[in-house]
Amino acid sequence: MEATTRQFTGNARQALKNDNLRAALDKLSHGFPYKRLEAAARLPEFEALRDQSRDIKAHVLENLDFYLQQFESKVIEQGGQVHWAKDAAEARDIILAICQEAGAETVTKSKSMIGEEIAINGHLEANGVRPVETDLGEYIIQLRKEPPSHLIAPAIHLSMDQVADTFKDKHREFAADRPLDQPRELLEEARTMLRREFLAADVGLTGANLLIAETGSIALVTNEGNADLTLTLPNTHIAIASIEKAVPTLEDATTILRVLARSATGQELSVYTTFVSGPKRPDDMDGPENFHVVLLDNGRTQMLGSEFHDMLRCIRCGACLNSCPVYGAIGGHAYGWVYSGPMGSVLMPGILGLEQTGDLPNASTLCGTCESVCPMRIPLPAMLRRWREQQHARRLTSTKSRMMLKLWAMLARRPGLYRAVMGLGVGFMRALAGGRGSLKSLPFAGGWTAVRDLPAPEGKTFTALWKERRK
Ligand code: SF4
Repeated sequence: MEATTRQFTGNARQALKNDNLRAALDKLSHGFPYKRLEAAARLPEFEALRDQSRDIKAHVLENLDFYLQQFESKVIEQGGQVHWAKDAAEARDIILAICQEAGAETVTKSKSMIGEEIAINGHLEANGVRPVETDLGEYIIQLRKEPPSHLIAPAIHLSMDQVADTFKDKHREFAADRPLDQPRELLEEARTMLRREFLAADVGLTGANLLIAETGSIALVTNEGNADLTLTLPNTHIAIASIEKAVPTLEDATTILRVLARSATGQELSVYTTFVSGPKRPDDMDGPENFHVVLLDNGRTQMLGSEFHDMLRCIRCGACLNSCPVYGAIGGHAYGWVYSGPMGSVLMPGILGLEQTGDLPNASTLCGTCESVCPMRIPLPAMLRRWREQQHARRLTSTKSRMMLKLWAMLARRPGLYRAVMGLGVGFMRALAGGRGSLKSLPFAGGWTAVRDLPAPEGKTFTALWKERRK
């Protein structure tokens, strides 16, 4: 997928004009966050589990080489193979080579953000291998040739009518006048289409939510069971995961799984939680003959030990997206690449480089809600601020914003002058509002007033009130 992260501002403007998208995002922000709250309230130890999960991942990141090597040797012990990919191109080549060796024509895929990150679908297609997404949301967006717009709900930006139109356009073997206005009807049709693909597939490609070092297993969570069909039916299973997915033990994996689904959808646990350990054994009834794990770095080792180290604790639950007012207004596509919301705005500069993702660290009000819901307690606002500092230091921001910051810094160092200027500014804004309570436009605040009124200042300034109270 070609990144359009540099066009974030333009993308966001377009998204704000899309009424379908706004309606879909409204539903999202009134759904998952409340379910998360209810699930957390039902589990007295939820906050303690968040602490434990954070500590597990923090420990893994301090000892990542050890746990990855342990994971590798356990996979090999069980008859599987591990491949190391330093970047997306290497990962694509490894996967393609395995598919070619398996003589694959069709590859079924279960949802994987790493698959999106390395743009595996385009690479397979370009080399004569047909990838088929099997997660319902991913299947829909694959038909529409769109990227996912959410970590766990890739087609959240679409209405049911849009999905029905897509099915009518792409599934030509069904009667043109068939009813498709109920979720059940859409589901049945997708199921019919996908069942034949599951049976035809030569290779199954999945992600991995966790890599368990002590057993060499991967853990996978889905709500549709598609990952299980993807990895069980074909002769070859490839799992692709980024290196920070390692955890030491099965016990650690279950601790993290207990916060993952609750934070994501408010479920106690996803409908399917699957642990895969190596290829089929002689007395197994089914399973693949070949089991490969591709471990992707793609910039992660550079983040280790850096100011953005803690971002590697992310378990891709999506809670920060669901609660972010910016994501809630513009959706995922505006961010311009695979990831979105607060986690995307921190992670993507680390992977693509700050030059390519200039506006993203500013796509936040820094309200702190993302950090308060993150099961891994990742300090997202602090890291967004660090990216902003780097932007400023490397002169990647506009001349206007640097001048404004310089002016503000000059005033902030002179409290007397600061108060005098603020007093004048407040008076000016009140005069401009003329008793209406809000301003329709204001010099230097056009970005705000273009889409909403700015409330006029009321009462005394903060410093005046503070002075009064101290007396
Ligand atoms: S940053 Fe935290 S809340 Fe956001 S997806 Fe990652 S783990 Fe979930």
